[in-house]
Amino acid sequence: MKLVSFVMDGEPGYGLVVDKEIFPATAAFRERFGDLRAVLAAGAQRELPENIDAALPAETDLCYLPPVVQPGKILCVGVNYRAHIAEMGRSVPDYPVVFTRFASSLVGHRTRLIRPSASPQYDYEGELAIIIGKAARHVSRQQALDHVAGYTCFMDGSVRDWQRHTGQFTPGKNFDSSGAMGPWLVTADEVPDPSQLNLETRVNGTPVQQGELADLVFDIPALLEYCSTFTELQPGDVIATGTPGGVGAARTPPVWLEPGDVVEVEIRDIGTLANPVGDEAGAGRP
Ligand code: MG
Repeated sequence: MKLVSFVMDGEPGYGLVVDKEIFPATAAFRERFGDLRAVLAAGAQRELPENIDAALPAETDLCYLPPVVQPGKILCVGVNYRAHIAEMGRSVPDYPVVFTRFASSLVGHRTRLIRPSASPQYDYEGELAIIIGKAARHVSRQQALDHVAGYTCFMDGSVRDWQRHTGQFTPGKNFDSSGAMGPWLVTADEVPDPSQLNLETRVNGTPVQQGELADLVFDIPALLEYCSTFTELQPGDVIATGTPGGVGAARTPPVWLEPGDVVEVEIRDIGTLANPVGDEAGAGRP
């Protein structure tokens, strides 16, 4: 199943995507579960196909939200593909490099990303993100995938000079509306082996990153084992798994995103997350 969150007529909602049509959850179901995070926490996604209204008309004016709008935690893994480690001049880490993003730094599919006025060094990072379904603490590799609700595309938009001000990534990874997640969550039953996935990032239709999830230094079970050792992962929590080589910062000369660009992150069997870039200081302000 594809689970989607959106705003329509000023009202937040969620539902299923089937053959590119959106079937919103009924008002009665939303009364029980206010958002997809609540659905996941109750394990109620299996009930959703019996609790949907008719498909929305194609011309419906709808704004996609990240599949989980307010995750309790957004954990991101840095330098987790060897090609990206090499291009960033780093060594292979002994442990996963984990940093966090705030929900305010993320927008949904098709929503404008904001290049901040503080820096022109605004870069793309296409990634696969895991969304947790069942609480996980001290899970082993063998148990790890049982705790995954599903997968989505992630754009870990990064402001490089701010990322490098100190040894901590936080400011450069958290400019408001600098990243994206979506367009939907694909449930884990449809992705029996996420290591078989591959991703491609495009800027204005030109491929700029390609990666195989099989190339992760720390694979998805390893990340779940590591992260669940220091914190209890909760339904709706997000772990972005890292980006492959080809980021703009590593090019000669560097290539930065500019207003008017369109960034796409496509993962076969998941979907394509597409976002235009706007400018904080200019007419692109949403
Ligand atoms: Mg990243």
